[in-house]
Amino acid sequence: MRFRPSEADETEAFETPGPVAFGTLGLSVAMLNTVAELGFLESTPIQTGAIPPALQGEDIIGQAHTGSGKTAAFGIPMLERLDERDGYVQALVLCPTRELAVQVNDEITRLAARHGLKSVAVYGGDPVARQIDALRRGAHIVVATPGRLGDHVQRRSINLDNVRIAVLDEADRMLDMGFAPDVESILRQCPQNRQTLLFSATMPDWVRRLALRHMQDPITVALSTTPEIATGVQQFYVQTTWADKLNTLARILEQPDVLLALIFVETKRTADLLQVQMERRGYPIGIIHGDLTQAERTRAMEQFSANHVKYLIATNVASRGLDIDDISHVINYDVPSTPDEYLHRVGRTARAGRSGIAITLITPSEILKLRDVERHAHTQIEALGIDAFPLPDDRATA
Ligand code: ADP
Ligand code: MG
Repeated sequence: MRFRPSEADETEAFETPGPVAFGTLGLSVAMLNTVAELGFLESTPIQTGAIPPALQGEDIIGQAHTGSGKTAAFGIPMLERLDERDGYVQALVLCPTRELAVQVNDEITRLAARHGLKSVAVYGGDPVARQIDALRRGAHIVVATPGRLGDHVQRRSINLDNVRIAVLDEADRMLDMGFAPDVESILRQCPQNRQTLLFSATMPDWVRRLALRHMQDPITVALSTTPEIATGVQQFYVQTTWADKLNTLARILEQPDVLLALIFVETKRTADLLQVQMERRGYPIGIIHGDLTQAERTRAMEQFSANHVKYLIATNVASRGLDIDDISHVINYDVPSTPDEYLHRVGRTARAGRSGIAITLITPSEILKLRDVERHAHTQIEALGIDAFPLPDDRATA
């Protein structure tokens, strides 16, 4: 549904948009050809709702669950509104993590196939000199993490004076405590008459309030007021104990339907420890968290997404927006600290209409945290006993 804040009480009057043919959204022939080539048959609902007003230059607050095509929802109108002849850095897309910056840059580059517009990703952990080289060769669009973008602005390798469109992807994360000062300072350095687009899976009120300081009369395109779990996800929890957690995890991973499993933990320390423990038991397992070098993170991601390593341990760093196909299982080795975090993690499986399984391990005191998630997300997480995961011997005799 769409509404301006002043019309919020009339929201019921708007139909929730469904998928439509891209041809009805007012796109150029070039863009229609590109999306067809990418195999996009119809727009996703957030695209149906956000593309037309964004093409008109409106500021947009867009909220839809993970995997619902938000990147193209801002990427398509952004590309349509830029002009190759208008010089460099016409659009800025801010992302919370390096992986996401790379992924969004890739998708924008694909969407820009016929637009003569160049997009460059700029993020921490990668040599600045190489990025400066890429920027010198010309970037109409910069996709960046806030810290590194700040560095480039200070070094004057990026100039924000020409920015006509600013996008915050995963906006709730971009405006939370860690990032907000950097992000707000960047937005203040962009021209005031720019267009501002904000997208996220969850849009709490405080984010909206903060965002409004940087937007002009934005239109909200929201597909659900409460965050959603994709319908293809089956959610379970398994009760275990601290002493038995590792055994429980191993037993789940042994199941033949586990093709590619993303295993979330709360801290880097747990991640490191779990990797050592699992490798000692003979499981090749990748790891990704904020203390690893960029090269290590990229390698872990590549091995995992290419199916060379079946299991990947991740902290919340990896839970945002990553689009890896075919993750069959998301396993919460630790219960996520907030319901939103749960949603973002579980959103890593059952992407784009596929199916997936999410399993959360809980120790006895943690059931309440899980009930919170259920209430908040209007969802149900079913209990499974450990017997639901037969040992190989049992399977053989069964
Ligand atoms: P979100 O940011 O909402 O989590 P993404 O933008 O990462 O979702 O999109 C998820 C996947 O869906 C991507 O692989 C993207 O290429 C694909 N996708 C986007 N729009 C469409 C569409 N209209 N039809 C089919 N696939 C799409
Ligand atoms: Mg996204």
